[in-house]
Formats: sequence, C-alpha cells, structure tokens
Amino acid sequence: MHAIAIHGGAGAAPRALLSAEREALYRAGLAAALDRGYAVLEQGGSSLEAVTVAVKILEDDPLFNAGHGAALTRDGAAELDSAIMDGRNMRAGAVASVRHVRNPVELARHVMEKSRHVLLVGPGAEEFALEEGLSLVPNTYFRTQERIEQLAFEQRGEHVSDIVPPGKGTVGAVARDADGNLAAATSTGGMTNKRPGRVGDSPIIGAGTYAKNGVCAVSATGHGEYFIRAVAAHHVCAAVEYRGLALEDAVRELLHDILGPLGGDGGLIAVDHAGRIVMDFSTEGMFRGARDSNGRRDIAIY
Ligand code: ASP
Repeated sequence: MHAIAIHGGAGAAPRALLSAEREALYRAGLAAALDRGYAVLEQGGSSLEAVTVAVKILEDDPLFNAGHGAALTRDGAAELDSAIMDGRNMRAGAVASVRHVRNPVELARHVMEKSRHVLLVGPGAEEFALEEGLSLVPNTYFRTQERIEQLAFEQRGEHVSDIVPPGKGTVGAVARDADGNLAAATSTGGMTNKRPGRVGDSPIIGAGTYAKNGVCAVSATGHGEYFIRAVAAHHVCAAVEYRGLALEDAVRELLHDILGPLGGDGGLIAVDHAGRIVMDFSTEGMFRGARDSNGRRDIAIY
C-alpha cells in the first residue's frame, strides 16, 4: 500500500468569501501536487522523493503561502522556512528565514543529505544553497500583488501587532511508499506581517514536521507558535508509538485537547505505518488532498 496526503494550509478563506472560480484554482493546484507526488510512489519511487516533488509544486504555485506567493514580513520581504524528514533513519534537514532560495524544500533536503547539520538559517543557509548549485532568485520573485495587498490590509487594520491570524496556505506532504518508508515535508512563508527573523513551526523538527518509520509522518499548518510550544508533530507520533493511540485519535487530541485550550488553531495531515491517512483541522477549512493505492483520491477545502 502506498499513500500520500498534501495540505495547502489551514485557515482557508471563509467559505462564504471563496468564489467558485477561485475554489477551482485551488483544487487544480492541489490536484497537480497530489497526482505528481502519487505518480512518484506509483512508479516505485520513495516517499522522500514523493513529498519533495509535491511540496515543490505547491511552492511554485502563487496561490499557496510558500515559495512564489509567500506571505510577507512586516517590512514587505518574503522569508521562507522549510523542513523535510526521512522516517527510515530519522534524518532531517531544515532551513529558516531564507530570502532567495527558489525552492526551500530542495535546500532542506540538501541540508539533510549533503551537510552534517539539521537546521541552517538566513545567509548561512543561502551560502550553502549557492555551493550546492540550487536556483537562487531575487526576493521580488516571491512577492505577488495579492500578498502585497494582504500585508497592506493587515498593516492598515486592527491586526498591526505581533499577534496576527495565521498566514493562509503553508504547504506540506506526508507519504508512505510501497516499502513502508515514511516521509514528511513542510514549506511556508510563515505568517503575514511577522517580524523579520520570526521562525514558525514548519522548519522545527517535531513541531511542524516529523516522520518515523513504523509510527507516522506528520506535516502541520496553523498558528506556528502554538505548534512549537506543543511540539505538535512529535506529540502525535509519540501518542501513537508509546500510548498505542490510533492516528486519528492522536491527531484529534493534539488539535482539540492540547492546542485548542492554549488558543492555537490549525490543522495537520498524517499517515501511519499502514498507509492510513488522517487530515484534521480546527479552523474553518484546510486545503488538502489524499490519494492511495486502494483507489482513494480526495481533494477538499472545508
Ligand atoms: N504554521 C505556519 C507558521 O506559523 C503558518 C501556516 O501554517 O499557515 O509559520
């Protein structure tokens, strides 16, 4: 059994505000990432490759808050965070606050595979990207008109503070390949109007991203500060491994019993050792998709 799930962020626009045309665009973007990631698994590729491919497609899609179209900091720049984890050996790579790397998930994977470190930030991460020959772009590549307007809206309104609603559309993927290997990846521009230098949960191993063979793989989205404090992704895997909870119960506990009372909302996608997928959220919606070798193929927002 092979399976993949993706998300394009929790905190989707309220249902009443999402036009049919725009919904169709989101669904098409999700379908492209889901099907390309699934094709990797179908051709016998690894879960690691499947999550990399899926997240890269979502990073390139301006609709989602990662890569091109990322949410902007309070000074109007894009600062990107990403992580990837290989459940086979629990190796992980992550980058934070990068401003010029076209596909941060690719750099996270290079950190995992080509360096002796787990997390690189800012200029040091970008120097490594240069050495690895990855594609670097001016920061303007990431900044779409829509994100510039979103930032202006935040800065005009009552949201001018450090405590703002989550940016919409962080992206992530989890997968189980035919060999039973699990992997997870997450990528984001973080939260709109964040302070320069702010790092969210996505690149923090155990908070927004985690994978361990035989247990589960998790990618989170939502108000990152809460996911860091709850060590969210690791909590889910630990509940499955050490307390024997079913994956869906572990996810529900995290979102509704732990994050809820703290005041943190969001969602996550997860896949367990058998390829069972769970996608749950405490926001009004979460862009998401799931596909497996039993014939399941779902794309949903609310
Ligand atoms: N979790 C991300 C962050 O806090 C934002 C999101 O998922 O929308 O950086």
